[in-house]
Amino acid sequence: MELVKENFQLQLDKILEDIKRAGIRPTLLLHSCCGPCSSYVISYLAQYFNITVFFYNPNIFPEAEYQLRLSEQKRLIEELKKEDVSVDLTAAAYDHDEFLSFVKGFESEKEGAGRCSLCFELRLRKTYDMALREGFDYFCSTLSVSPHKNALVLNKIGRSVNESMWLVSDFKKRDGYKKSIELSKKYELYRQEYCGCEFAMNTHQHFASLFFIKRSYNLGSSK
Ligand code: SF4
Repeated sequence: MELVKENFQLQLDKILEDIKRAGIRPTLLLHSCCGPCSSYVISYLAQYFNITVFFYNPNIFPEAEYQLRLSEQKRLIEELKKEDVSVDLTAAAYDHDEFLSFVKGFESEKEGAGRCSLCFELRLRKTYDMALREGFDYFCSTLSVSPHKNALVLNKIGRSVNESMWLVSDFKKRDGYKKSIELSKKYELYRQEYCGCEFAMNTHQHFASLFFIKRSYNLGSSK
């Protein structure tokens, strides 16, 4: 994949200026990886869009971790609604086998390489499918807020799925990541210690996370 350096924040600025000038409020289906990353992105984009957050993350393992991240996402949305933020939530059923099939053959790659590009593609394609089906104006993802996620790769995939509906982004710019940490503290959100899949999880983090889940939510072991 050949990647050309671009300033996606400036491109997003231009789109947001155009929206403001036109006096319109488009609909946006925003794929969210977790509550903490979405906290900043929602607070930033809600001035311009009617947002529906789409929690679709079959990459997360184990299921107890998935349910914890989803419950924190739900809690955040409820908190934001109390502050009159225009945002709704829809969540997909957990299907980790779908992720495993999609990344088959790439399991041993290091984080940030080919397995992650496929993981992005799976989640962005599914988000686009729903955006198209439900008549959204744009689709996007919170993923670029993380310093560990390559905005060039994400935007290349988003454009390849549907360039006219993809909202370009690099949310880590302008202190986006730092602001997401501040908002996570404000809403007391659980912040995970690993990206999501079992291949990126080291043993210490795995057991620390499972301990936290069981202690905080009294969940049984994953199925
Ligand atoms: S490390 Fe993260 S982005 Fe990469 S495949 Fe695993 S869950 Fe997906």
